[in-house]
Amino acid sequence: MDLQQLQRTFEARFGQHGALYTSPGRINLIGEHTDYNGGFVFPGAIDKGIYACIRLNGTSTVRAYSVDYDDYCEFGLHEEDKPQAAWARYLFGVCREMDKRGFAPSGFDTVFAGDVPLGAGLSSSAALESVFAFALNDLLHLNIDKFELARIGQSTEHNYCGVKCGIMDQFASLFGQAGHLMRLNCTTMEFEYFPFNPVGYKVVLLDTAVKHELASSAYNKRRESCENACAHIAAKHPDVKFLSDATMEMLNEVKNEINTEDYKRAEYVIGEKQRVLEVCDALKKGDYETVGKCMYGTHQGMSKLYEVSCEELDFLNDIAKECGVTGSRVMGGGFGGCTINLIEEALYEPFIATAKQKFAEEFGHDPKVYEVTISDGARKIGE
Ligand code: ADP
Ligand code: MG
Repeated sequence: MDLQQLQRTFEARFGQHGALYTSPGRINLIGEHTDYNGGFVFPGAIDKGIYACIRLNGTSTVRAYSVDYDDYCEFGLHEEDKPQAAWARYLFGVCREMDKRGFAPSGFDTVFAGDVPLGAGLSSSAALESVFAFALNDLLHLNIDKFELARIGQSTEHNYCGVKCGIMDQFASLFGQAGHLMRLNCTTMEFEYFPFNPVGYKVVLLDTAVKHELASSAYNKRRESCENACAHIAAKHPDVKFLSDATMEMLNEVKNEINTEDYKRAEYVIGEKQRVLEVCDALKKGDYETVGKCMYGTHQGMSKLYEVSCEELDFLNDIAKECGVTGSRVMGGGFGGCTINLIEEALYEPFIATAKQKFAEEFGHDPKVYEVTISDGARKIGE
C-alpha cells in the first residue's frame, strides 16, 4: 500500500495532515463450523488490510473518501438513516455502535484504501470496521478494550450491513500478531497464541469465485443437526453443553436415537475439535506435516460428513494432493470461496500453474491466487 499517496490524497481533499492506521483481513487455519458448537477457531491476521488516513475535524460530521470506490460520503453523527453507499455503512455502524455503548465518537475526516480482496472470505469488512473502531478509540482516548472493539465491529455487521456474523473476524483483525495464530473459543472468548512460522513453506489461497445461494439455509440445517445430536448426548451426559464437549463414544451411545445425517454432522464436529487440538501440539513442535494432514482431514470431513463443500473446492483439493501440497482444505463456511493451502516453497510455482490450468479447463476461469503472511493486527502506522 502506498501510504504517502494516501496521505497526499487526504491532504489534497482536506487540506491537513492525518494519522495513519491499518487493520488486516484474516485466514482461519483450522476449526470450521465449530464456533456455534462451542469449539475452537484458529485464525491469524494477514499482510493485507485496510489503511486509513484520519483526522478529527471538531464537528459532528464524518467526511469519508473511499479510494478504491472513488466515492465520497458525508454523514452526521446524529443522523438516523444509514448512508446509501454500502461501504459507508461500515463507518456509520461503527460510530453508532460506539455511541450506543456510551463512547461518543466525534466527527472526523478520512481517506482510506485496502488490499484485502472483497468477498473472498478474507474478511475485508472486518478489516474496515476494525480500522475505524481502533483509530477512533486511539484518537479519542476512549480506552475501549479490544474485545469491545471487536463487538462494535460485529454489531455493525448485524445492525447496519445485514450480516449475522460471529466474532472471529473482528477478533483476528484486532488481536493478530505476526508469526502467531490464535486459538479462540468463540463462546467463552478464551484464547491463546500459538507460534506459526512455517519456514520453507508458503500459505496460499485459491479462490474458486463460486458463491452458492444454498449457503444460508444449509447453514441453518447444519446447526439444527448439531443441536439435535447434542441434546441427545446431553440427556445422558449433563456436562455436555455443546457438541464440541462430546466424545465419539458419547455420540455412539445415541447412534440409534438420531438419524444418519445428524450422526455424520456430529461426527465431523467432534473430529474437528480433535484436529484443532492436534494442530496445537504440532505447532508447538513446529511440525507442519501434521498440521497439513489435519487440514486434509478437515476438508474430508467438510466434504463427506458435513457436506458443505462443492465440486470446485473438491477439485482444487484433489489437485493439491496430486501436487504434493502439505495441507489443503476449504476455508470458511463452505459452498464456495477459497481453499487454504500450506505448501513447500519448492512446490509452489508448479502447484499454482497446474491448479490454474486444470481449473480453467474444467470450469472455464482461473482461480484467483492470494499468497498471505501471518502479520500484526490493528495498529497505528504513522502520526
Ligand atoms: P468479505 O468476505 O471480504 O468481508 P463482505 O461482503 O463481508 O466480504 O464485505 C465486503 C464489503 O466491505 C464491500 O462490499 C465494501 O462495502 C466493504 N469494503 C471492503 N473493502 C473495502 C475497501 N477497500 N474500500 C471500501 N469498502 C470496502
Ligand atoms: Mg465480511
